[in-house]
Amino acid sequence: MLCANQLCLSIGEKVILDDVGLTLQPGEMLAVLGPNGAGKSTLLKALSGDIPELAHSISLNGKRLKHWTPASLAQYRAVMPQFVQLTFAFSVEEVIETSLRHPMPSALRNTHIQQMLSLFDAEHLRHRNYLSLSGGEQQRVQLARVISQLETLPIQEPQYLFLDECTSSLDLTHQHQVFQVLKNMAKEKNRAVLVILHDLNLAAQYADRILLMKAGRGVALGGVKEVLDATQLTEVYEYPIDVIEHPGGWPLVIPAHYSLVA
Ligand code: ADP
Ligand code: MG
Repeated sequence: MLCANQLCLSIGEKVILDDVGLTLQPGEMLAVLGPNGAGKSTLLKALSGDIPELAHSISLNGKRLKHWTPASLAQYRAVMPQFVQLTFAFSVEEVIETSLRHPMPSALRNTHIQQMLSLFDAEHLRHRNYLSLSGGEQQRVQLARVISQLETLPIQEPQYLFLDECTSSLDLTHQHQVFQVLKNMAKEKNRAVLVILHDLNLAAQYADRILLMKAGRGVALGGVKEVLDATQLTEVYEYPIDVIEHPGGWPLVIPAHYSLVA
């Protein structure tokens, strides 16, 4: 399990995280939602171990982050940041290879790369220059890279995947394919998945729990129906929002009717 207690972070006068706490269980998908600037990416950085002053307040599998070495942490948690910038003209295959921590026999490596890319409908991109891909194609390759990082070692203890707006450039079909892969992976491999999202309806359909943030604070943390409450969302997003029931049984979030004032 991942536990984070009372995370507080300020930079200069600005409070970026204000007493945020959460737990993340193996096998579950937690969606982190909230307006721009709410502190979502900063929270993900903290949970990833990238903010040293918060590493004593976060534990992974019972051990505080400050006691993990970078090499062992990399076996247990993989991170896809909001912005991934590559300046070298790596091929897609080489991008996936960066996630391999140990040399693999070439036949095994070939199959592994193929499998990782095929999870996200990207096997046909294997020999392309990464920099020549569309934004959505690059996101699918990055997803394959982070899953690959967790796949390459036989680990008994729970592993964690942190994804920051990982479907923001994807079309509707690929968004749902990605979430189905992530959801199945969480259940079958008992991995914990934390996703930062702007699409409230993807969260409604796939998340097990939701953390709703605003101005550095955790406004609500709980089940999908509890957190996706119309009044609460309207307050947090400062925009009129309705919630109705999707035919599938989960909440369907819709912006309330907007009429132009003459
Ligand atoms: P979100 O991902 O929810 O959009 P972020 O976590 O990226 O928000 O940022 C939260 C707030 O903290 C934003 O207002 C952002 O401008 C500010 N912030 C983040 N990093 C820094 C920094 N290094 N220096 C100053 N302000 C920062
Ligand atoms: Mg962000």
